[in-house]
Amino acid sequence: MTPGAGSRGASGGAPRLSLDMLAMYLKGVGPGRADVLRRLGIFTVRDLMLHVPHRYEDASTISPVNRLRIGDAATVVGRVISKGIIPTRRGLRVFQAVIKDESGMIECAWPGQPFLDRSIKVGDVLLLAGAVRFFHGRQFAPRETINLGAEEQENATGRVLAVYPATEGFSFKQMRFLIDRHLDTYLPLVKEYLPEGLLTEAMVPTLPEALRMVHRPATLDDARRGRARLAYEELLFVNILHLRARALSRTARVGIQYTNRRDLTTKLKAVLPFELTTAQVRATREIVKDMCGGDRMHRLLQGDVGSGKTVVALFAALLAMENGFQAAVMAPTELLAEQHADTMASLLAPLGISPLIVTGSLGAKARRAAATRLASVEPVLAIGTHALVQQGIEFGRLGLAVVDEQHRFGVEQRLALGKKGERPDMLLMSATPIPRSLALTVYGDLDVSVLDELPPGRQPVTTVRRPEKARAKVYDFIEGQIEKGRQTFLVFPLIEESDKVALKAATKGFEELSTGRFAHRRLELLHGRLDVATKDKVMRRFRDGAIDLLVSTTVIEVGIDVPNATVMVVEHPERFGLSQLHQLRGRVGRGAEESFCILLGDVAPESEERLQVVVQTSDGFEVAEADLRMRGMGDLFGQRQSGEATFRIANPFRDLELNELSREAARRLLERDPNLSSKVNAPIQAVLKRRYARAMELFRVG
Ligand code: ADP
Ligand code: MG
Repeated sequence: MTPGAGSRGASGGAPRLSLDMLAMYLKGVGPGRADVLRRLGIFTVRDLMLHVPHRYEDASTISPVNRLRIGDAATVVGRVISKGIIPTRRGLRVFQAVIKDESGMIECAWPGQPFLDRSIKVGDVLLLAGAVRFFHGRQFAPRETINLGAEEQENATGRVLAVYPATEGFSFKQMRFLIDRHLDTYLPLVKEYLPEGLLTEAMVPTLPEALRMVHRPATLDDARRGRARLAYEELLFVNILHLRARALSRTARVGIQYTNRRDLTTKLKAVLPFELTTAQVRATREIVKDMCGGDRMHRLLQGDVGSGKTVVALFAALLAMENGFQAAVMAPTELLAEQHADTMASLLAPLGISPLIVTGSLGAKARRAAATRLASVEPVLAIGTHALVQQGIEFGRLGLAVVDEQHRFGVEQRLALGKKGERPDMLLMSATPIPRSLALTVYGDLDVSVLDELPPGRQPVTTVRRPEKARAKVYDFIEGQIEKGRQTFLVFPLIEESDKVALKAATKGFEELSTGRFAHRRLELLHGRLDVATKDKVMRRFRDGAIDLLVSTTVIEVGIDVPNATVMVVEHPERFGLSQLHQLRGRVGRGAEESFCILLGDVAPESEERLQVVVQTSDGFEVAEADLRMRGMGDLFGQRQSGEATFRIANPFRDLELNELSREAARRLLERDPNLSSKVNAPIQAVLKRRYARAMELFRVG
């Protein structure tokens, strides 16, 4: 019997206490609130117990208000002593409040949020995180506002404040109250299910202890220890699932077994205009080995921008073709697909092979011709966009599917390409550098090859930081480059919550430059609101040298090659993740000329320190590692990829040690008991099934 499984406590009779009881039946919840809780993923009492604070504040993280200086980012706690709504001349209504703590007072302003006047009362204690700016003196601009209520103490000494993920209709305060109210009743029902040995090894407390520590920490250190336990468990489970999936896909993954004929591949080697790098040779070998083995290849080729992934993919394609199979390369945009087709066509011309391009903009006739060729058993190399996986396109004998910039595609599209043939080998490519130690956790059941070396003779892009007061000089520099016939990118950040702000900034920047300093030059504006065809057209004009300076939000095509572009100016560089900056910088430095990346504007000292990483190293892996240490994984991926096991508490990039330990532990567990069906492991299997419903099929016993 699995722990905690039992009758649903709510279904009549004398209610037995159970963690499986629906949260709806708890005192203080009810149907309306239950709906809101469900939005937070809380269905049962167990879910509620596992709904842990996402951060904590105490005297060490909260600043006394009299110490705040303009430009600081800080968290403060204070009592509201006065408040009101101030209209501005431009019709915006600003909620303002003065808060007071033991050290002093500060004015706070929430532009455009007059509704706060209803929920915030004089006497309430507020927890605010935000920045101090100059506005008739110091003014605090909260990013996050949590009303702790009137009963709360405004002094933070000796007290740890747990902050819970809350949602509209269920405030943080209500959440804290609800959990606190039921903790003593339900915590005793929580049973440990991990073997004691593992906990000791990871030096983490048992589950009930950990939950008490995270919900009611006496010190921040308590909270940290409790969190570590929950993070460890999450990492352990995800590692178990990945290892299990990997083992299964190994055994159930019969694929095409190619013969290394050294026919087309040798010919390509002979005509390549360059020597392969050691990394390219190694990756090619790994791929050839996979393809010539009996298992289906499922490999990720990861390498910094410009590391030369395309030619590696080309070798794989030729191996498939010399065995009589077809190969397909799918790229995220038409422009990229065309670029690949051009490069590959010129490399393959001496071999008498011309790739077939398949994009949405093919005319009906060309499309029919392409479809006919693909449906035959002729060993073609098809290069295209997602048009390759659309209806009406069938492959007669697809043996290799390559997905470039794989993170730009959804899981479904990647799978769809794989389904166009009889278990074709899969090669995914990505420029997002993941440190090797994390690749397994992040990419699950993929094998990984890494190009950790750039082709020789590549000049690193000279990267500099320039303050706002150097703007005029930066423009002079751009002018000089345009004078020499070079092109410049000028990029504005995309602000997540409000695309509009970014658009305005970029539009304004564009207008100023195109009517002012660069009125005599050819400028264009590129942003996310433009339709695909227009974006494409602008990028094309830039590629063809018809634009001197391209002002854009961050929609610049990943992977696009414009050798004549030598300057990348980034506005508000502090708003970008380091890996993103590195990617942006990879847009220049693709030709023979020296290239420059200029991070422009004034930033806070912490940001300055961060930006120095990009200035000082041109190694994408180093940048990624620094980024992960400083900001966590969200920035690396931009957004979470669907279909991947996700982490609620752990961060595999920050919890490096726990991750290592848990991976090792997962390996040992599965080695001894692949189905986790033994008596000691059964509880783990039960929790896994409950938490990762879709993963159940990985543990079919029988
Ligand atoms: P990415 O890994 O970013 O996709 P590409 O495959 O587009 O990189 O390669 C970038 C450029 O480097 C291309 O112009 C390609 O022809 C060139 N290149 C690839 N490998 C080598 C090499 N070993 N030596 C010199 N140039 C190379
Ligand atoms: Mg590429």
